[in-house]
Amino acid sequence: MQGEASNQSMQAIRIHKHGRPEVLALEEAPAPTTGARQALIRIEASGVNFIDVYYREGRYQTPLPYTPGQEAAGTILALGEGTESAGFAVGDRVAWTLVPGTYAQLAVAPIERLVRVPERVTSQQAASAMLQGMTAHYLSHSTYPIQRGDEVLIHAGAGGAGLLLTQMAKTLGARVFTTVSSEEKAELSRAAGADEVILYTQVDFAEEIRKKMGGPGLHAVYDSVGKTTFDKSLSLLRPRGMMVLFGGSSGPVPPFDLIRLSQVGSLFVTRPTLKDYIATREELEHRAGEVLRSIAEGTLKLRIEYVYPLSDAARAHEDLEGRRTTGKLLLIP
Ligand code: NDP
Repeated sequence: MQGEASNQSMQAIRIHKHGRPEVLALEEAPAPTTGARQALIRIEASGVNFIDVYYREGRYQTPLPYTPGQEAAGTILALGEGTESAGFAVGDRVAWTLVPGTYAQLAVAPIERLVRVPERVTSQQAASAMLQGMTAHYLSHSTYPIQRGDEVLIHAGAGGAGLLLTQMAKTLGARVFTTVSSEEKAELSRAAGADEVILYTQVDFAEEIRKKMGGPGLHAVYDSVGKTTFDKSLSLLRPRGMMVLFGGSSGPVPPFDLIRLSQVGSLFVTRPTLKDYIATREELEHRAGEVLRSIAEGTLKLRIEYVYPLSDAARAHEDLEGRRTTGKLLLIP
């Protein structure tokens, strides 16, 4: 192993049983050790994402005790065997996602999951962009590749993923509808470029959009809310439109009879997830490269809303679930 040896222990959030945010306790935990083709990284910022809630609750199963968090940026402290050809060195600033265990001071990650953080991008920015930024990128460029003039709907328009997806959809030339729950969130969604922002708490979002859309329906709906929005979202699509269900903040969508898709216009429904859109080294480098470059150039604006100490992970989850947040939440070890 090259570089500094890992400490014997570190501070980390560990959950011993699934449940409410209180199960996120800061404790002394064994420091991870670097295996073959892995790097040991000192974490400078860890992103908080809705998927962390699903793991905490047990909706996604994992062995316990478990250190949550799947997104971070930091500095390489040591490299394991077999990493020589990967082009990384001790001291490099790197970012990664979809490797569990980032609510901690130290983490190990497979070398092929790391991307270099450009000089003009801070570690906090990189930690904010890896999961939600690359998600917004694959949704708008690959799942349903937006064409100039398309009309699309993005739910949770002022959320972490929503603000980034709105900006990318506008850059690609779409007319963007969003839904949000409050006037304050509406302002943020408009500032991100949304053309029509619907306060779904005051009006029926489907009726409102139907009045305002230009054609026979929307080209695509990007729906991360799920249970409470799915049916009405489907009713807004044009024939052969695409329903992109990428999350379930309000709960999972109940079982669905596929024959409905033919009755309402030969619709497409997909349930994508980031891991399949960064599965190869080439695709990861391409997506991360485009996202980090647009941040460095200032064409993609991040809204880092809350920066909590690691010990406040439970509060971060309460704020995220309580719909009090509008952008990115970070934990700093
Ligand atoms: P957000 O910042 O978007 O937070 C969730 C938002 O959803 C809330 O602020 C709220 O906005 C809205 N919402 C509507 N109904 C509810 C409800 N019942 N409970 C809580 N929130 C609700 O979170 P993220 O950007 O981190 O994630 C957004 C979604 O995207 C999640 O569902 C997540 O799982 C998914 N996701 C999926 C990925 C994938 O590859 N498939 C990758 C990344 C994220 P408002 O107040 O305006 O209603």
